[in-house]
Amino acid sequence: MAEEKHYDIVIVGGGPGGITAGMYGARANLKTVMVEKFMPGGQIANTEEVEDYPGFEHISGAELAMKMANHAKKFGLEVISDEVTEVISEGETRKVAVGASGVNYVGKQMVVATGGSAVKLDVPGEEEFSGKGVSYCAICDGAFFKNEIIAVVGGGDAAVEEAMFLTKFGSKVILIHRRDKLRAQKVIQDRAFKNPKLEYIWDSVVEEIKGDNKVRSLVLKNVKTGETSDLDVGAVFVFIGFYPNTYMLPDDIKKNEQGYLITDYKMETSVPGIYACGDVRAQLVRQITNAVGDGTTAAMAAVYRLEELEG
Ligand code: NAP
Repeated sequence: MAEEKHYDIVIVGGGPGGITAGMYGARANLKTVMVEKFMPGGQIANTEEVEDYPGFEHISGAELAMKMANHAKKFGLEVISDEVTEVISEGETRKVAVGASGVNYVGKQMVVATGGSAVKLDVPGEEEFSGKGVSYCAICDGAFFKNEIIAVVGGGDAAVEEAMFLTKFGSKVILIHRRDKLRAQKVIQDRAFKNPKLEYIWDSVVEEIKGDNKVRSLVLKNVKTGETSDLDVGAVFVFIGFYPNTYMLPDDIKKNEQGYLITDYKMETSVPGIYACGDVRAQLVRQITNAVGDGTTAAMAAVYRLEELEG
């Protein structure tokens, strides 16, 4: 039988939402654990610069993540590095997060803060050259492609911001977007259009990634004319959105059409005693600020529920 560790609140996932939930749970004097498979911070740990978190005009994502995690730990949050492979709800006050390490983290209440993962292009060559010029993380891999031509795919905030970051390394950066208008916020677009090292290929999609021991070129298709062309590049960074990480959750938990968790105003999911916060939750925008707000609500709802149940 798996070893069991018992807590008042178990938090699955350690991005800004999870850390904040952990801070509020621990601050309410409840035994609270946050189980994260990598390191605390989630996506912001790989974000070069954050400029829209109030109080911090410019801060690196890694530093903000570290500050958040240390802050929560000061209130007594326990942080464990383990992958939760399954979540089982066994009645009102027994929520089990099954850890890949063989430990089951059992909480009276649970907060799911598992975020999302990068969507892949799903074209020939993508898997073959993954780590050899195909990347989903500019901070992690950008420096490997100094003075090479770097392609970026996508037109949202992530693609445009990461393309700007990659201009630090590439001889030039070419953003390939399937439409002729970016989806990114205007303030981000304005900055991008001023960057002389950033070029654009509109109305185009990547059909194939080619190379030898690493990426050498892309086959592009113009979606308006149907024409295909080859583009020589040394790397391609893909930022075409992400999908929520819900694979470990009970099948019957309610999701919207895109697979994001549906919650009520308390951040409670359709499974009583399981709350959700941040990018895994169905909502209008996915920013650090609202993940933090969600995390606060989720943890406090769990605290109030335990007070009601235990007096
Ligand atoms: P996103 O906003 O969903 O944008 C995805 C982009 O990829 C869109 O431009 C989309 O094209 C394109 N795309 C989707 N599937 C494609 C495919 N198969 N082939 C080619 N292109 C494809 O995703 P995101 O940029 O990752 O951002 C996700 C969330 O994080 C957003 O809510 C965003 O605001 C937030 N975020 C915010 C910041 C910031 O505020 N600084 C930074 C990063 C992320 P279409 O435009 O044609 O749909």
